[in-house]
Amino acid sequence: MELQGKIAIVTGGGRGIGAAIARELAAGGARVVVNYRSRSDAAEAVAAEIGGVAVQADVSTTEGCEKLVAAAEELGPIDILVNNAGITKDGLLMQMSDEAFDDVLAVNAGGCFRMSRAVISNFVRRRAGVIINLTSISGIRGNSGQVNYSASKAAIIGMTRSLAREVAKRKIRVNAVAPGFIETDMTAVLPDIVKTEAKKIIPMRRLGTPEEIAPLVRFLAGPGATYITGQLFVVDGGMTC
Ligand code: NAD
Repeated sequence: MELQGKIAIVTGGGRGIGAAIARELAAGGARVVVNYRSRSDAAEAVAAEIGGVAVQADVSTTEGCEKLVAAAEELGPIDILVNNAGITKDGLLMQMSDEAFDDVLAVNAGGCFRMSRAVISNFVRRRAGVIINLTSISGIRGNSGQVNYSASKAAIIGMTRSLAREVAKRKIRVNAVAPGFIETDMTAVLPDIVKTEAKKIIPMRRLGTPEEIAPLVRFLAGPGATYITGQLFVVDGGMTC
C-alpha cells in the first residue's frame, strides 16, 4: 500500500467527502486523524472503522489548528494534510449578513490558511509533505446565492497556487480539488428544485458521491503525483467542461 506509514489529517473528516477521504487514505495504508468540530459520534465511528484517531478542533481558530496538529504529531510526523472542512451560509448578497460572510470565509479560507501554517514549518524541516485543499466549482464559475462561499473557495485556489510556489523547492506539494454537486449533508439542505436544475446542467445528469472524490485525493497524496503541484482538479460530471 502506497501510503503505508504515512500520517494524515483530514479536517471535517467525520462525514461526507471528508469521511470518504479518510477511508480512502486509510485504505492506502495511512494512519488518519479524523478532525471534527461538534459531531464526535460520527467522527469516532469513522476513526474506529479505519484504525485512526478522532480529534475535536475548530479549524477557524489558530488555537484549534495548533491543537489538532499537536494531537496528530503524537502519532508521528505529519505527511498529509487534507483541508476539507467547509460550511455554507447561502443567501442573496442584498440580504447577506456580515456574520454569514465572515463565518464562511473564516472556516473555509481561514481554516485552510491556519492549518497549512500550522504544519508548514515541520514540512519544511523534513523536506516533505503534501497539502490537498477542497475548493469548489463555485469558486471557479460562481453560483447565485453563494457570494461568501464562492469567495472563500476562490481564495483557496489562489492560496493553493501561491503556497505551491513558496514551498516547491522544499519538496512540499500543494494541490486543490474542486468537486461539483456531491451528495452530502451540505447539498441535502438544498431545495429539490435546485438539485433538479443542477442535474440539467451536469452532462452526466446526476450528482456525484463522496466516493467519487476521495480516490483523486489519495492519488494526489501518493507516489504517483510527485511532480504535480499548484494544480486545480475539477470533479464535476462535466459541468464546467
Ligand atoms: P459536510 O457538511 O457534509 O461536511 C463538512 C465537514 O466540515 C463536517 O464534518 C463539519 O463538521 C466540518 N466542519 C465545518 N466547520 C468546521 C470547523 N470550523 N472546524 C472543523 N470542522 C468543521 O460537507 P461536504 O459536502 O462533505 O463538504 C466537504 C468539503 O467539500 C467542503 O470544503 C465543501 O465546501 C467542499 N465541497 C462540497 C461540495 C458538495 O456538493 N457537497 C461541492 C464542492 C465542494
